[in-house]
Amino acid sequence: MNRALTIAGSDSGGGAGIQADLKTFQELKVFGTSALTAVTAQNTLGVQGVFPMDAVAVANQVQSVGEDIGTDALKTGMLFNTEIIQAVSEKIKQFGWEKVVVDPVMIAKGGASLLQQEAVSALKKHLLPLCLIITPNIPEAEVLTGMSIKSMDEKKEAAKRIHILGAKNVVIKGGHDEETNESVDVLFDGIEYSYFSTPRIMTENTHGTGCTFSAAITAKLAKGSSVHEAVSVAKDFIQAAIANPLNIGCGHGPTNHWA
Ligand code: PLP
Repeated sequence: MNRALTIAGSDSGGGAGIQADLKTFQELKVFGTSALTAVTAQNTLGVQGVFPMDAVAVANQVQSVGEDIGTDALKTGMLFNTEIIQAVSEKIKQFGWEKVVVDPVMIAKGGASLLQQEAVSALKKHLLPLCLIITPNIPEAEVLTGMSIKSMDEKKEAAKRIHILGAKNVVIKGGHDEETNESVDVLFDGIEYSYFSTPRIMTENTHGTGCTFSAAITAKLAKGSSVHEAVSVAKDFIQAAIANPLNIGCGHGPTNHWA
């Protein structure tokens, strides 16, 4: 049985974070394990509270999974602060894990901060050099590079700059590029660019899309897929999830993990 680990925050509303990751792992038929970095009080209306874990508690969870169950691939989501980023980076190095997917979660759609501003430099310094794939959306890529990204050429340039920071493969997602009627994700592997395009679906129910997308990539890597294949399957998976909304709650509903 292939195994996948998620190191991320809990979303009590079940649409994003650890909950989205484990549901996605289950759908893609890998055994999911988890290390919680924070608990959020959250629903489709927004984030009502953020309660970070102690970095030692995060490290202990990863240690427990690593020394017994092990993992074929892992992803990081909400990491919240510098201490947690350092603890997670140390554990990745200790276990020698290479199939590492980093979803650089920064701000929830409702505006709540899921990564302290001063932790961005720790993310760049400690975690990016350890990651096989990083999956920023456009606002996250702008924070990582200091660029303003409006065109495809700027997306490509940002991917190149993030690659130079140490990420072996960079996927800049097109979901926020709302002026186009296609959502185009750009993958840069250090040599070539690949493009993954799907028709844009106009919907309010996109809560947790980033988490679900990176979890799907992680599951496919755990099963032995190449980076290109994993991104391609994840793009189709998230498209189907967005196309079949659940209409749960009164606000931004979750994507449908079993679509
Ligand atoms: N809450 C948690 C715990 C998350 O990990 C994420 C991931 O990005 C979010 C919320 C963000 O959700 P949204 O898709 O609504 O921005």
